[in-house]
Amino acid sequence: MMMLFLSLLFASPQTESQSPPPPPQKVLMIGLDGVRPDALQAARTPHLDALSERGAITYTGQTTAITSSGPAWSSILTGARVSLHNVRNNAFEGKKITTWPTWLAQWESAHPEAFTAAVSQWGPIHDHLTQGTIDLSLDAEDQAAVTASALEIIGDSENDVTALFLHYDGGDHAGHAHGYGVNIPEYLAAIESVDAEVGKVLQEIRRREQILHEDWLILVGTDHGGTGTSHGKNIPEHRTVFLIASGSSAEDFSWRKNAEVVDFAPAALHHLGLQGSCIPAPRKDGWWQGRHAELNRRALAQTADILFLGDSITQGWEGAGKKVWKEFYGNRKAINLGIGGDKTEHVLWRLRHGNLENQNPKVCVIMIGTNNSNRDSSDAITKGVQAIVAELQFSVPESEILLLATFPRGATVEDRLRKINEASNASLREWSNTQEKVHHIDFNVRFLTETGVLTQEVMPDLLHPHEAGYKIWATAMEEELKRLLAISE
Ligand SMILES: [Zn+2]
Repeated sequence: MMMLFLSLLFASPQTESQSPPPPPQKVLMIGLDGVRPDALQAARTPHLDALSERGAITYTGQTTAITSSGPAWSSILTGARVSLHNVRNNAFEGKKITTWPTWLAQWESAHPEAFTAAVSQWGPIHDHLTQGTIDLSLDAEDQAAVTASALEIIGDSENDVTALFLHYDGGDHAGHAHGYGVNIPEYLAAIESVDAEVGKVLQEIRRREQILHEDWLILVGTDHGGTGTSHGKNIPEHRTVFLIASGSSAEDFSWRKNAEVVDFAPAALHHLGLQGSCIPAPRKDGWWQGRHAELNRRALAQTADILFLGDSITQGWEGAGKKVWKEFYGNRKAINLGIGGDKTEHVLWRLRHGNLENQNPKVCVIMIGTNNSNRDSSDAITKGVQAIVAELQFSVPESEILLLATFPRGATVEDRLRKINEASNASLREWSNTQEKVHHIDFNVRFLTETGVLTQEVMPDLLHPHEAGYKIWATAMEEELKRLLAISE
């Protein structure tokens, strides 16, 4: 037998040495209900401490403004803002979880062969968020049952688990019964007890990692804090949360300055390697990084009344549109935050990483999505734009948002990418009517002939406007822009 094995080994063709395949990327997210960051620091939690030492922890993260489990776990699991998933209380009435699914469900739809599972001690997570969208969703009786199911899932060699969510309720339960705070012994004891459960799960993950050479990202978070024996208010003691990211590839990981619970789902999906219109992501090339840093400096240096946000078509105000910009916006406080080549997810990332620092614009002018049309459906583009609008509504709530229909591209009405854009323009126009302070305008006919042909005089490459095109843009938008600027005066 051994001879046969050796001869087969030597018979194999000798090619140049191949590097071993990269380790499979996996994610474990652990939710600890109702654990205040100061109590986490005060309690004796060796397992969670060891995790943060092997990655990054912040004690100053922010959860949803409504500090209840329904909205908060929805934002943690979907990565979407409350205005999008629409879960505003623990009854989950009006939830839009089908449109804004959990990160586990997003991964499951992209990779149906991957095994995805969730075990939750708080029933509504199973009932409203995970059930029916992943391979295994369980509702556990108590924390020991969460751990028992977790060990079974992690140890199961039949189902090769890739994405796993666990929820422990002990902290919140003790908070409601005895009080939330660093001076409540029962509360600290409950957190220590949850830490021991987490320790058992982590041991099993380590065992897997050693045998199967996997690369697990471990994310740990909470949905809210508390005071007295309750929570639910928009106050720092309820809203401030910790966020942990840990694992062998998380050593360089850092949470952003104003980290929020919506950052969990993108962190999970990045590790799994999933991209998409609503998953905020930076671009890696040096040119883009430089331009992003430049825009951050620009934003910091000048508080603008009019903020332009978009891709190369917006960046082009600094090129082909320069003269027109000077004429229309030179004497107004206007800022250009366009980056050529950006898709919706890049703009989404920029908004959370400095582009809005120091900004409280009267009007945001947005045009984005045409770079998505090569990859995405019109529905995915629509959602990417909605996520950007939601981000602005959250971060600069006073602003009026002037959402422009994506300009026509390609020579004729039959152009495939133009059609995709037109479909998302139509659904965004309809959606805008349901949103406060969002104004959709579409002046695309002004770029086209009567039969819908885009000429090279208007856009030489049939995508980017010439100077004449920028003049059409500024003129067509001016009346609405004036009206919106006047609203906040
Ligand atoms: Zn509670």
